[in-house]
Amino acid sequence: TDACLSAIEQAGALNAFVHNTPDIARRQAAAADQRLQAGDAPAMCGIPLGIKDLFCTKGVPTQAASRILQGFVPEYESTATQNLFDAGAVMLGKLNMDEFAMGSTNETSVYGPAVNPWRLGEQQLTPGGSSGGSAAAVAADLCLAATGTDTGGSMRQPAAFTGTVGVKPTYGRVSRWGIVAFASSLDQAGPMTKTVRDAAIMLGAMASVDPKDSTSADRPVPDYESALTGDIRGKRIGIPREYRIDGMPAEIEALWQQGIAMLRDAGAEIVDISLPHTKYALPAYYVIGPAEASSNLARYDGVRYGHRAPLAAGDGINEMYEKTRAEGFGPEVQRRAMIGTYVLSAGFYDAYYNRARKVRALIKRDFDEAFAAGIDTILTPATPSAAFPLGTMHAVDPVQMYLNDVFTVTVNLAGLPALALPAGLDSQGLPLGLQLIGRPWDEAGLLNHASVLE
Ligand code: GLN
Repeated sequence: TDACLSAIEQAGALNAFVHNTPDIARRQAAAADQRLQAGDAPAMCGIPLGIKDLFCTKGVPTQAASRILQGFVPEYESTATQNLFDAGAVMLGKLNMDEFAMGSTNETSVYGPAVNPWRLGEQQLTPGGSSGGSAAAVAADLCLAATGTDTGGSMRQPAAFTGTVGVKPTYGRVSRWGIVAFASSLDQAGPMTKTVRDAAIMLGAMASVDPKDSTSADRPVPDYESALTGDIRGKRIGIPREYRIDGMPAEIEALWQQGIAMLRDAGAEIVDISLPHTKYALPAYYVIGPAEASSNLARYDGVRYGHRAPLAAGDGINEMYEKTRAEGFGPEVQRRAMIGTYVLSAGFYDAYYNRARKVRALIKRDFDEAFAAGIDTILTPATPSAAFPLGTMHAVDPVQMYLNDVFTVTVNLAGLPALALPAGLDSQGLPLGLQLIGRPWDEAGLLNHASVLE
């Protein structure tokens, strides 16, 4: 813990941690020492973690990287972080992210972007987003692991960009209670780690059924670590042809082929599959995500949480709402609130939101059919590119940024577990990631397949 705290102090340029909690960390570390001495060492005992700023942490500022939550100090702890602390984990501080987890570059953060530690100096790179601070902190050894959340790829894409592991569990595996909501039917929290084994241990500690989240699943949480046998003989790995998209760099295709060969060498059977509705996933996601976000963001009204705009004489409650939301939300969050309100409005509901829900059902059916045909796990690239320079994507064209989520959003629409792990380096020496998608609730099998690729 002390080593991490001093590493964090020296790594201010990465802008990964936005709020440090050294006193809490030292207290938790001392308690972990005592538990160790008493011979009671739970799974995460004494492991120093960074916590994404989307998790409510009791008594510790939680802003979701937004101005509108300035000054908000939760009186409660999210179930996922509480589970980690109960398992002995130590909190070093809160991590940078895109505002309300909306983004793929960490550039929508009120704190400015976290920086990818793989290349410092002149042309800084994005660590990805929205869990960019989590990925940067893990990759730069500022913490042993971090929490992340994933609504459309926000753990897997940053993991791919930083050479780390990010696991998005099956929808319902980890309680969403106390995590600031983006799109409630898509959001899941999970571990961001250096290795698959670390992810297995941390996921086991985070997951639980929770009476406070009605969508959390009443299912036993397996011992994920002991599932890492490396034995995948006879397993069937699906390679979806729709993920071979135009313009994908040859280097990514080559690493995908290398991953396929590794799984085949380990005794798995490789099967070409089709997920025909994949091409509709991005438009469906960018309707459903903003629709749910616009509803979730309604609570930030200047009354209940955080920031309230200064008012002029004669301003009433409507002016208070308007001014607070206009200055409290950044441009990307405002864009999503407007898109979401539009697609949910009476005249457009059927044309956009309802149609997107139908597309979502078809995307889920594609996966269901593949699994029913005996596929155990699906292997794809995690992203269509390596990390790109800050200031070149989101700032220039938000739609261009949305396209970066092409391989990841299907999984959230279908509620499936998936992970990204390092696949190798490109010709510039930057990490690239592969994605494995699993059957519902089979995080154990998913992690075991991943362990073969490590
Ligand atoms: N990049 C996607 C978005 O901007 C995903 C974000 C996420 O998973 N939280 O919506």
